[in-house]
Amino acid sequence: MASSHTVLMRLVASAYSVAQKAGTIVRRVLAEGDLGIVEKTCATDLQTKADRLAQMSICSSLARKFPKLTIIGEEDLPSEEVDQELIEDGQWEEILKQPCPSQYRAIKEEDLVVWVDPLDGTKEYTEGLLDNVTVLIGIAYEGKAIAGVINQPYYNYQNNEKQKLREHGNEAKAGPDAVLGRTIWGVLGLGAFGFQLKEAPAGKHIITTTRSHGSKLVTDCVTAMNPDDVLRVGGAGNKIIQLIEGKASAYVFASPGCKKWDTCAPEVILHAVGGKLTDIHGNALQYNKEVKHMNSAGVLATLRNHNYYASRVPESVKSALVP
Ligand code: AMP
Ligand code: MG
Ligand code: MG
Repeated sequence: MASSHTVLMRLVASAYSVAQKAGTIVRRVLAEGDLGIVEKTCATDLQTKADRLAQMSICSSLARKFPKLTIIGEEDLPSEEVDQELIEDGQWEEILKQPCPSQYRAIKEEDLVVWVDPLDGTKEYTEGLLDNVTVLIGIAYEGKAIAGVINQPYYNYQNNEKQKLREHGNEAKAGPDAVLGRTIWGVLGLGAFGFQLKEAPAGKHIITTTRSHGSKLVTDCVTAMNPDDVLRVGGAGNKIIQLIEGKASAYVFASPGCKKWDTCAPEVILHAVGGKLTDIHGNALQYNKEVKHMNSAGVLATLRNHNYYASRVPESVKSALVP
């Protein structure tokens, strides 16, 4: 029997379960202790066994259910039979209860492009900065990012460390928030879910930027924002979470280092709650399957006041980062 749900909502519901499964793979690989680190282009551009297995799991699971999708994953992997143990067949029922925005009801499987970052923040993952890590599945239609899922496998990691202390009798019982990991999802025109939207402190310019991929251009651009504070953390997904949870006012990355799989899912979550992600010129990013992977003109993302931050990007930075 044909499903009464739209292709888009079925895909988002599956992507939710698939991202959760990828999150468990990310935790399992680290717990087993053999990260299998490979340098891709340089010492700050890494791939681990978790990146490889999570991508195999995500791409194979989605391709089995939705064979006509275009799926673009970050990692270059040999095409080989994927272990059945890596396949996730579930779909998150809560998502299927939501209405599909009318403009997306007629979308067909072959119209969609899925951008997969199986592990965003790999450098930080290898260094134990685990709450920087996310799994990103972004969905694009007609070149626009329209739906996305972010799994944060180590959300509450710090709390869990405290919980261990508590369990050893040092403190009172752990709170209900100490479950490890969470999944955030969103569809344009419907909203974003799985977190509590919070505004950054009013009147302050708190800038979040890269921790591992800095350059003079990156620093020049951050300095030009007249920052009250600069947070240097790993992961594009993690930095967008900082914006929607009020920890930072702008994500500023004047570098061509971020790729479409880094920005697609985070952009949707941010846009679904009224924010904006563009390149540093203020132009929208494109996500059709033919587009070049690199975000050559950098990333500028905000929940509010995008114009202020865009207006402060120095001309020298703009001329160095052409789209
Ligand atoms: P970061 O803010 O440094 O964590 O970067 C966000 C995302 O872009 C991560 O997936 C990084 O791996 C990627 N990225 C940023 N700059 C570079 C670079 N210079 N080389 C490779 N990947 C990069
Ligand atoms: Mg990434
Ligand atoms: Mg990655």
